[in-house]
Amino acid sequence: MSLPANIYCYHCGRHHPSAEMRQIETKGGKKWRCIKSIEATKITSAQRDAFGKTVTMINKAEQQARVKARLNAERLLSAG
Ligand SMILES: [Zn+2]
Repeated sequence: MSLPANIYCYHCGRHHPSAEMRQIETKGGKKWRCIKSIEATKITSAQRDAFGKTVTMINKAEQQARVKARLNAERLLSAG
């Protein structure tokens, strides 16, 4: 079985060299998609995950800092 030189990429809506193409399973069946678009999606979703985790961590840290600051203030007031 040999592949055509160019394969239609459903993601970009145009043809790419078959060497740059990967066949992937979708809900609608097997489709061809270029490696570039697959990698681009992977990177952006990984970055989104990392970004989401960072934001959660910052929020938690900020909240802890706020709680600590309030406890300190209360302690100072009650001590005074
Ligand atoms: Zn493509």
